[in-house]
Amino acid sequence: MKIKEVIRKIKKNCKQAKVYKDNFSNHTSIKIGGESYFVEPNNLGDIIKIINYCKQDNIKHMIIGNGTNIVVSDKGYGGIVILLKKVFCNIEKDGDTLLCGAGVSLFRICDLAKDYGLSGLENLYGIPGSIGGAVYMNAGAYGASIGDVVKGVLYLKNDKVYYDKAKRLDLSYRHSIFMEQNDIIILRVDIQLVPLDKSIIKEKMFEILKKRYDSQPYNMPSAGSVFKRIDNVPVSKLIDQCGLKGVSVGDCQVSTKHAGFIVNKGHATCKDFQELVKYIQKIVFEKHGIALQCEVIFIK
Ligand SMILES: Cc1cc2nc3c(=O)[nH]c(=O)nc-3n(C[C@H](O)[C@H](O)[C@H](O)COP(=O)(O)OP(=O)(O)OC[C@H]3O[C@@H](n4cnc5c(N)ncnc54)[C@H](O)[C@@H]3O)c2cc1C
Repeated sequence: MKIKEVIRKIKKNCKQAKVYKDNFSNHTSIKIGGESYFVEPNNLGDIIKIINYCKQDNIKHMIIGNGTNIVVSDKGYGGIVILLKKVFCNIEKDGDTLLCGAGVSLFRICDLAKDYGLSGLENLYGIPGSIGGAVYMNAGAYGASIGDVVKGVLYLKNDKVYYDKAKRLDLSYRHSIFMEQNDIIILRVDIQLVPLDKSIIKEKMFEILKKRYDSQPYNMPSAGSVFKRIDNVPVSKLIDQCGLKGVSVGDCQVSTKHAGFIVNKGHATCKDFQELVKYIQKIVFEKHGIALQCEVIFIK
C-alpha cells in the first residue's frame, strides 16, 4: 500500500519525527474517530519532507492542532495526520505583540498575556483549541474573535514560508483564507494586544470562564458548537425550541445543558454524530424554515 511506503520514507528520512498508528478518538475532544497514521515532526524541514513524500505517492495529509473542532470517520483518516504538538510551541514577546507558535494552546496564550498585562484575548479564554486552529477557523466568543487581534500570520505553502498581514487573511465569521487553500500550514500567529492592569484582565477572564462553565457541557466530550450562528439568532435557542435537548442517536446526545452542543456519552461513533446532525437539521428546518450549517469539520 502506498501509505505504508510514505510511512517507510518518513521513518527512514525524518529520524526525529515520531510516527505511529492510533485511534483518532485519542486526538479529538469529542473522542470519535478510527485508526489513522500520525506523525509528530519536530522541525520545519521534516514537515516539508513529509508533505512531499505524501504528494509523491498521492497520499493526502492533514494538520491538527488540539482536535477540538473536528469529527473524524469511524474508519479513520485515509492519509497522514501531522500533529504540531512538538513544533511551533514557543511564545515570544515583542513590545505589545505576542509571536505565538501555531501549536500553542489559546489557554496558555491568554494566561501569558494576562501575566504581561496585555489585553485583547479575554473573551476567548476557555476556547480549547491551538492558536493555529483558532486562526484557521477564526474562532470567537462573546462578541470577539481571534481575527480582532491578529497582526499577521507566518505560514508554509508549497515548500515556501510566507508572512501576511491580517487584512489579507479574510478573517470573517468562522472563516479565514486558509480554509480555501489546500496545503497550508500556519506556523506562527502574531497577536497585537494593548496594555491594561493585570487584575482587570484576570477578572474579565474568570468572568468569561465562569459563563462558559455555567452554560456549556465542559464535563463531557464534545467538539464545541456544532452549527454556525445564523444572523444574530443563537442556534442553541432554535434547537431548544424544537424540544431537541437530550435527544440521542447511539451515544451522541444533544446536550441537556446547551442545545448547540452534541456530547459523547461514552462510545459515540461518527455515524451517530452525523445522523444526529441530520436529524437536528431536519427538525429545525421543518419548524423554523432555517437550514443549519455545520461549524464542526468532518474528516474522512
Ligand atoms: C468545549 C468546547 C468549547 C468551544 N468553544 C468555542 C468557542 O467559544 N468559539 C469557537 O470559535 N470555537 C469553540 N470551540 C471549537 C474549537 O475549540 C475552535 O474552533 C478552535 O479554534 C479549534 O482549534 P484546534 O487547534 O482544536 O483545531 P483542530 O480541531 O485541530 O483543527 C480545526 C481545523 O483547523 C486546521 N488547522 C489546525 N491547526 C492548523 C495549522 N497550524 N495550520 C493549518 N490548519 C490548521 C485543521 O486542519 C482543521 O481543518 C469549542 C470547542 C470545544 C470542545
